[in-house]
Amino acid sequence: MTGQVQAQLDAGDRAVQRAYSKFIEHTQLCEPCRKDGADCETAAELRQAWRDAKKAVAA
Ligand SMILES: [Zn+2]
Repeated sequence: MTGQVQAQLDAGDRAVQRAYSKFIEHTQLCEPCRKDGADCETAAELRQAWRDAKKAVAA
C-alpha cells in the first residue's frame, strides 16, 4: 500500500469519526433525541452523513 492511499484512508477514517461524534453529541444534547430515544430530523441527517462517510471509506 502506498503512502498516498494510506493517507486517503486515514482522512476517510477521520471523516467517519467526525461524523459519528457530531451525531452522538447531538443525541446527548437534543431533548427529543434523549427523551424518546428516536432520531429527530437533525439526528437523522447526522446519521445519514455518518453512513455516507462510512460508505465513502468502504468504496
Ligand atoms: Zn435530535
